[in-house]
Amino acid sequence: MSIKNILNKDNFSKDDIVNLLKLNENDSNELYDFAYQTKKKYVGNFTYLRALIEYSNICSKNCLYCGIRYGNKNVTRYTMSDEEILESVSYAMDNQYSSIVIQGGEIESKKHTEHINDLIKKIMDLSEGKIGITLSLGEQSYDTYRLWRQSGAKRYLLRIESSNEELFYKIHNKNENHNFQKRVECLKMLKDSDYQVGTGIMIGLPEQTLDHLADDVFFMIDLDIDMIGMGPYIEHIDTPLFEKREMLLPLNERFNLSLKLISIMRIFMKDINIAASTAMQTIDSEGKEKALKAGANILMPNITPLQYKENYKLYENKPKFDELSNEFMENIKKWVSNAGDIIKFDKHGDSIHYKNKQFKVK
Ligand code: SAM
Ligand code: SF4
Repeated sequence: MSIKNILNKDNFSKDDIVNLLKLNENDSNELYDFAYQTKKKYVGNFTYLRALIEYSNICSKNCLYCGIRYGNKNVTRYTMSDEEILESVSYAMDNQYSSIVIQGGEIESKKHTEHINDLIKKIMDLSEGKIGITLSLGEQSYDTYRLWRQSGAKRYLLRIESSNEELFYKIHNKNENHNFQKRVECLKMLKDSDYQVGTGIMIGLPEQTLDHLADDVFFMIDLDIDMIGMGPYIEHIDTPLFEKREMLLPLNERFNLSLKLISIMRIFMKDINIAASTAMQTIDSEGKEKALKAGANILMPNITPLQYKENYKLYENKPKFDELSNEFMENIKKWVSNAGDIIKFDKHGDSIHYKNKQFKVK
């Protein structure tokens, strides 16, 4: 079947998705253009910015792919002080960011819950409630999610990583800390706690097939998520998954698959937010621009202070841009305008999908 025939269908089958993922470079452009037009129609040709603060690399978990996993003893651990985090928030506000993301390793304890809760309140006070807060702090209890939501956080990112349980346990050792059902449960609890919920996957994992990726698409649709943050898997030498590096697709293929998945998700879920991941920029210096052209609408410049940023190394060759420089902001403006988009500096850029759902309920 030709790509036009697939794109003009109301619903894609699993085979359609696999066929789209197999498209060659020339034909992929048709997919990207179609997705960009869908974005324009449903969420506008706008890009929203989130300033990312990687506040701590201390993690209690041991995900087999991640450079800051508990078991990696070659990491200098840090946690930014509240003052430093608030300085970063002030920096974000001074530089026209209207939303921030607080991301870190996963800790589940009463002390951590209370600390983050205080921090959310301090950020709300500092910004007079104006800044949009997204959290990406892993699996937590229902009560913790609800508490942080009540204190002012409104979006939460928790990737499923892979919706295929068998593959999930090839990238996490099954134990009380790494449990597929718990992760799915957490996503449901986040929805129930009224967050705008983001999930996503890593693309190009060892032993991952196109069928797995097509199933991931249906997983995200079935969960009716509001936001997506997905991107290529990139190996890290100090992680157990590095042993399987011979099985990996070349980086450019992982990149192209990521672009296609952005487009497919945009065409399917039309009004959700989709982020252009940092890992895409790591592989291709025009990664963010290409992702916007393929249907993404969110960029997350990393404003973590430089002395900490180098210790938040999830994978090899994380881009070494100084994202706090004026030059970097000029680059962002260039990527966005090359993609045909306009930056909406003054808007939180809430998920229209989430808003539409609220509207339907009322
Ligand atoms: N600890 C929280 C969690 O796991 O949800 C948030 C921080 S974690 C570092 C954020 C994301 O980084 C993960 O969801 C994972 O997809 C991504 N990540 C970790 N290692 C990676 C790698 N080697 N390549 C690409 N992405 C990676
Ligand atoms: Fe920790 Fe998140 Fe890395 Fe897993 S992916 S080891 S939970 S920081």
